Amino acid sequence: MKLLLVEDDPGIARFALRGLAAEGYVVDWHRDGRNAAASLATGSYCAAILDLGLPDCDGLDLCRDLRAAGIDTPVIMLTARTTLQDRLDGFDCGADDYLPKPFAFAELVARLAAMIRRSGMRPGRIAFGTLRLDQIAREAFVGTVRLTLSRRAFDVLAALVQGGGPVARETLLKSVWGSDTEVSDNSVDVYIGTLRRVLAAHPDAPTIRTLRGQGFQLVLKNETI
Ligand code: CA
Repeated sequence: MKLLLVEDDPGIARFALRGLAAEGYVVDWHRDGRNAAASLATGSYCAAILDLGLPDCDGLDLCRDLRAAGIDTPVIMLTARTTLQDRLDGFDCGADDYLPKPFAFAELVARLAAMIRRSGMRPGRIAFGTLRLDQIAREAFVGTVRLTLSRRAFDVLAALVQGGGPVARETLLKSVWGSDTEVSDNSVDVYIGTLRRVLAAHPDAPTIRTLRGQGFQLVLKNETI
């Protein structure tokens, strides 16, 4: 499971990174709010650990912006601010949990696991922005709205979400159609066209960009690449 750690104190960050890796998490680390916001906007994390005092912004604002953008990645806040009002402010901004510094690592791990369990982000669930796919149930959602997709269209969409960047036409053909030699290049275009129409019905949904010579990439609305 992939986590995002947003912490400007390298000592705390390295301590957390070591421990979380030992717990089996894959962790991306950002020291500032700007990069954290860009990564969180992809919606590809099963949870985020967010320090409140960041060099370029307040973690509360970052969390508030995330929720306003429709990203519901579970967030646990780490902070030295420990008054009741501080905790209430955290929840008010959309945080799911709150852990005062200094903290015991075992408590962070336990709270993370509980938070991820509550969020329903189980193995097999992948996301990009407001788009969420359950690969076991083979269901796709934008926010809470279920998309009606054929089996192949779901597979193409899943390959794009998992790609995390440009996905070549050949990669799509191989991962979705496998060794079926009857399929033509045109099939990819047909399914991409279908997915674009389905996604376009949802104003908050990502869109599919065609990148000349590179393939296709999911992008957030208004994102330039
Ligand atoms: Ca800090």
